[in-house]
Amino acid sequence: MLAEALPKRLAAHVAAEAGLRGNLADCSDKLLKSFTDGLADWRLKPTGSEGYRKAEVTLGGIDTDGLDARTMEARAVPGLHVIGEAMDVTGWLGGYNFQWAWSSGWAAGQAIAQKRRG
Ligand SMILES: Cc1cc2nc3c(=O)[nH]c(=O)nc-3n(C[C@H](O)[C@H](O)[C@H](O)COP(=O)(O)OP(=O)(O)OC[C@H]3O[C@@H](n4cnc5c(N)ncnc54)[C@H](O)[C@@H]3O)c2cc1C
Repeated sequence: MLAEALPKRLAAHVAAEAGLRGNLADCSDKLLKSFTDGLADWRLKPTGSEGYRKAEVTLGGIDTDGLDARTMEARAVPGLHVIGEAMDVTGWLGGYNFQWAWSSGWAAGQAIAQKRRG
């Protein structure tokens, strides 16, 4: 049953760790309760990261407070536009960072073109 919610090998591992064997119906209520309580309160503590070799996005960058939200232009340095990862904007993986890079680049490009047109 657990393998319907978790990857099979993980389900088998946690069940074995908890001493769950055989038919579910034959396990004591006490054992099942302590197992489900443990699962519900499962805290994962990362032991480290895989470093820059696997890194996909950076945290930090130029503070957005210093930029115009429409044009991405630096308030303190007119004519300087900041886009994408150079800014302190970080999204979940899954396309949000690409979207931010493209959208902020588009906004800055439009603003620059408009300024040139006068
Ligand atoms: C392996 C990997 C996987 C990723 N997967 C995803 C994902 O699935 N979804 C998602 O949303 N985001 C993902 N990202 C993050 C995403 O790629 C970035 O957030 C996004 O590309 C940032 O765009 P950017 O234009 O700000 O910077 P970049 O794409 O880094 O572009 C900066 C450009 O500037 C150039 N450059 C640097 N210095 C100079 C210089 N001095 N002179 C001239 N040019 C220079 C660089 O060569 C580069 O072409 C991934 C990143 C990595 C590394």
